[in-house]
Amino acid sequence: MTLKERDKKHLWHPLTQHKIHPEALPIIKAKGAVLYGEDQKEYIDGIASWYTAMYGHCNDYILDKVKQQMCQLDQIVFSGFTHEPAIRLSEELIKILPNNQEKIFFSDNGSTANEVGIKMALQYHFNKGEKRNTIIAFEDGFHGDTFGAMSASGLSVYNGPFEDFFIDVKRIPTPNKKNIESVLEALHSIIETHKVAAFIYEPLVQGANAMHMFEAKHLDLILRICKEHAIITIADEVMTGFGKTGKNFASDHIETKPDIISMSKALTAGFVPMAVTSCTKEIYDAFLDDSVGKAFFHAHTYSANPIACAVAIAGIELLHSKEIQDNIQRIIKSHTQFNDKIKNHPKVKVTRQQGVIYALDLNIEMDRYGKKRYEIFNHFMKQGVFLRPLGNTIYILAPYVISMKQLDVIYNTIIDLLETI
Ligand SMILES: *Cc1c(COP(=O)(O)O)cnc(C)c1O
Repeated sequence: MTLKERDKKHLWHPLTQHKIHPEALPIIKAKGAVLYGEDQKEYIDGIASWYTAMYGHCNDYILDKVKQQMCQLDQIVFSGFTHEPAIRLSEELIKILPNNQEKIFFSDNGSTANEVGIKMALQYHFNKGEKRNTIIAFEDGFHGDTFGAMSASGLSVYNGPFEDFFIDVKRIPTPNKKNIESVLEALHSIIETHKVAAFIYEPLVQGANAMHMFEAKHLDLILRICKEHAIITIADEVMTGFGKTGKNFASDHIETKPDIISMSKALTAGFVPMAVTSCTKEIYDAFLDDSVGKAFFHAHTYSANPIACAVAIAGIELLHSKEIQDNIQRIIKSHTQFNDKIKNHPKVKVTRQQGVIYALDLNIEMDRYGKKRYEIFNHFMKQGVFLRPLGNTIYILAPYVISMKQLDVIYNTIIDLLETI
């Protein structure tokens, strides 16, 4: 039996309607920006496997550190024990996070990082003797698939069957030049009529919402109002973190800093799953008490897994290498040049860029999960490029190590699509 046939026997894939979805494509190897299929074909990974493998797949530097760590210490309970990789990672993260961040809490993935952030915010108020039970979030945001994170997310296809079980979330639209006044009004009115505990947001770019972007200065106005009302601000940097917006974190572009930041994806460079939720000293201090009950009782068995920590440290070292920093600038420039070339094409409705994140909307009506989307997906795959359109949006978020030649292949398949669609 082929891998495809064996896959179909027992596997249930995420985000997949198995009755209509085409079969999954087996990948047998990955290196740098390239995926190698069982079909003997090579595919340029134009989205860094959901923006994780930013330093390239199977990066040799990271591989070396992983091997060393695996032989030294594989796993240890993180309640009552500690270890050098976790300590060192906390130090490295605090160095690059916005400077109001002070404490590092570990979990396993982006959803749990946000779950932790939401629970921290709720318990922060609880510990202070205040009952606040409402979370504010952006419309069409995405924060993950666990219950708290899902409640805060606004993409209905994920949430439909579960809405009756959600925590209380009120939504505001993402801001722009035209609607900013009414967004601030809506925010004020929610604050007046609810006991708001926290505001959770993807800073500057909403990944799952087709790379929707908005301006730092508008977000800043929202964050200021939250601060005035002691609403805990949670920046979901699971997608935007670690250099993608042109700075270490998207929050670095915004004047008002969040109380809590969640990170995952590129944190562990595509090697292993892990997540971090950082917070300020003020949040942490609200959990200090003679009573055990005020402690944060949230744990994952693999919290701060030493191998994952070693990967993350190596990733941060690479992020700050001259090579990667130069690559980031090169990609930013080259996306801008590509944009100049195609932005006025009749099949292009609108384009946008933030750092190495580039997106364009096709000037055609399409369902987010419709047939046309697969046609476009297949157009790219046939030409050896892995891009994953979101509705009529095509976005590029390639590994930082992608070569100019590989980038040009991606650009050319997009131009080719515009000419033939
Ligand atoms: C991917 C993502 C998540 C969820 O992370 P998982 O690791 O898939 O659970 C949350 N927030 C944002 C912004 C993401 O892009």
